[in-house]
Order: sequence, then C-alpha cells, then structure tokens
Amino acid sequence: MKISEILKSNQVTLSFEVFPPKKAETFEAVRSAAKEISELQPSFISVTYGAGGSTAGYTAELATEIQNQNHVTVLPHLTCVGCSKEQVDAMIQNYQENDIHNIMVLRGDQPTSGPIHTDFAHANDLIAYIKERSDLCIGGACYPEGHVESYNKKEDLKYLKEKVEAGCDFLTTQMFFDNNIFYNFLYRAREAGITVPILAGIMPITNAKQLGRSVALSGTNVPERFKAIVDCFKDNPEAMKQAGIVYAADQIIDLIANGVTHIHVYSMNKPDVAQGILMNLSEILK
Ligand code: FAD
Repeated sequence: MKISEILKSNQVTLSFEVFPPKKAETFEAVRSAAKEISELQPSFISVTYGAGGSTAGYTAELATEIQNQNHVTVLPHLTCVGCSKEQVDAMIQNYQENDIHNIMVLRGDQPTSGPIHTDFAHANDLIAYIKERSDLCIGGACYPEGHVESYNKKEDLKYLKEKVEAGCDFLTTQMFFDNNIFYNFLYRAREAGITVPILAGIMPITNAKQLGRSVALSGTNVPERFKAIVDCFKDNPEAMKQAGIVYAADQIIDLIANGVTHIHVYSMNKPDVAQGILMNLSEILK
C-alpha cells in the first residue's frame, strides 16, 4: 500500500524504523528483530540505507521480506551517495516486481575521505528522477532545527520546498527532543507553502552513548530536562532504558494532544523499545 494513502487517515499512525545488517552473518538477528517489530502491527516499517550505499542489497532484501512475509507496508531508503542512474533503474524495477510501492529518498552523508561517485547531487535530483520513471510514493527528510550544513533555516526551507515540488509525497523529520521546536518548524513549513504530510521523527534514547553519537551527527538540541535524566540514569542501563522509553512516549502523547497524527519512531532494531512505547500508549492509540 502507498504510504500517502495510509496518511490520509484521521487516526494516529505510528511507524517504526529498522536498519539492515552490515554483513551476512548478522542478517538472521536483524530479520528476527524486524519480525518482532512487524508483529506490533505498525502503520509501516522503514528500512534504512547504509552510509555510502554500503547496505544496498540488504536494504532491498530486508524490505522485501518485511513486505511479503511479515505483511507490513515497507519504506526502503535510498541515498544519492554512491548511486548511478543504472542502479536506480534496477532498484525501481526490483521494488515494483516485489509489490513495494514506497521509497524514502535521501542525499546521504558525504564520505569523510575519497571521491563521491554519484549521478545525483541532492535528494531533489534523485526524487525528480524516480518520480519521472515510476509510480512509487516518495518520502523525503526534513530538519526542524535546520540541516547541519545549511546556511540558515530560511535557506533550508527554500530547498525543502524545492524537494517537495520535485515529487515528495510526505516528509519525515530528523529526531528532536523538544516538541516546541517541531511545532515551530511545522508552522514555518506550512507558511512556506509546504502542504504534504510531515511525520514527527521520535528517537527513544535508551543508553547515554547513543545520545552522544546522535547529537554529534545531527546537531539536535538536548533540553536540560532530558540532560538531567541521562545524568541521573546513565550508569544504570535498565533505568536509562525505561526513562528513554517514557520520555519518547511523553513526547508522542504531547504531539497527539496537539493534533499531530503521524509519528515515526526510530526503533533501531529494538523490538523491546518499540513495544515499551506502545505499552505506554495502549489506551491512547485505541
Ligand atoms: P538534501 O535534501 O539534499 O539536503 C542536504 C543539504 O543540502 C541541506 O543543507 C539542504 O539545505 C541543501 N540543499 C538541498 N537541496 C539543495 C540544492 N538543490 N542546492 C544546494 N543545496 C541544497 N542517511 C543515510 O545514509 N541512510 C539513510 O537511510 C538515512 N535515512 C534518513 C532518514 C531521515 C528521516 C532523516 C532525517 C535522515 C536520514 N539520513 C540517512 C541522513 C541524511 O542522509 C543526511 O541528513 C544528509 O546529510 C542529508 O540528506 P537529505 O536527503 O536531507 O539531503
């Protein structure tokens, strides 16, 4: 099913994300995590694409399994970095043959060294290319706090609008830990004429290390309230996990209470975390 159809519902939609293995030896563990997450019956599952195209084959294989064996709508990701037109053509064909109707199109992060091989400089170039050649429903990324490389938020929003005009059917935000930042972004995006659905991306932080890495890469603001939680529980893994799940669930409850109906959880191959979030929302999602 196309995600654009799922998002037409007035009901809350909750989707999860998994990432493919880096090597064949760990495929089984990822497959099993994806199966458990599928059993929670999310609105859809996204499958990320490794940096520089490193997991291209596994992304497609895992997405196809989730769609055709677990019977959950999937959203495989694809990045411009390391991607040629021929590869995109083959991928579109493969997805269409496997009854996959959605794709998340990203630029990807630039490699820290060596030349970049790509036929597409920005996500909007690849989105336009796919839109012209297929009927896939296309998702794109957006950044409530501005993308780390952008000059300012206004410029970032201008490029975001171009990305939507190139053929994006919906957007998913980068993680944020302060909902007011999301509400402010939503207001600015709507005012700029961006009308497609915007899914709020929520990352449950269940260990302190994860917070360090995530923030370093994304430039996401961490509120004092959450810093205090991490400081207090960082040396107690089970308590940190519980606090991270509850913080994410609390963000989601606030979003729903403020009329945000589409939420994407960066569940990171952790069925227990995905389930913990759902348990905290059990009555709310009924
Ligand atoms: P773009 O939309 O191309 O934007 C990148 C930068 O260029 C921005 O600063 C923007 O303002 C600017 N820009 C955009 N268009 C133009 C233009 N035409 N001319 C000049 N400047 C322009 N990475 C992965 O490797 N694999 C994944 O699976 C993955 N999934 C993600 C999912 C989500 C929801 C998000 C938010 C990010 C994901 N990323 C993933 C990370 C993403 O690839 C990086 O954040 C990357 O740096 C930017 O990707 P983009 O698609 O937003 O790029």
